[in-house]
Amino acid sequence: MQKAVEQLSKSGIKPSYQRVKILEHLMNEKNHPTAEQLYHQLKTRIPTLSKATVYNTLHAFTKSGLIRSVTTNQLGTRYDYVTDDHGHFLCLDCNRIFDFPREKLCYERELEGFEIYSEEVVLKGICRDCAKKR
Ligand SMILES: [Zn+2]
Ligand SMILES: [Zn+2]
Repeated sequence: MQKAVEQLSKSGIKPSYQRVKILEHLMNEKNHPTAEQLYHQLKTRIPTLSKATVYNTLHAFTKSGLIRSVTTNQLGTRYDYVTDDHGHFLCLDCNRIFDFPREKLCYERELEGFEIYSEEVVLKGICRDCAKKR
């Protein structure tokens, strides 16, 4: 609870109860939910939560750099708490997202003079569990 409040304050976002709960959820569950999934997961614990609040909150968090959005064409946009630089592997069978560490990307020379706001590395394929079932 305290950590989420601190993170929000640091990012200049007023730590309302619902915002804290949404951020905490993303910090604890590393399952890269969509806005829709997050809404359903939290709705049971926060009955007053509205879908609009979830969408607005995720948008504000992403803009402030607290969380990252991961674009997938299967389930739409997924959200992830930003801890370190890691890449994502998207399984095209079970739609799970796996994190993996990655080195810093090298583009300083090719993209000199560009303003870069975010980095996203997404590998797509079939995860180990799904590959075994084939
Ligand atoms: Zn899979
Ligand atoms: Zn991730």
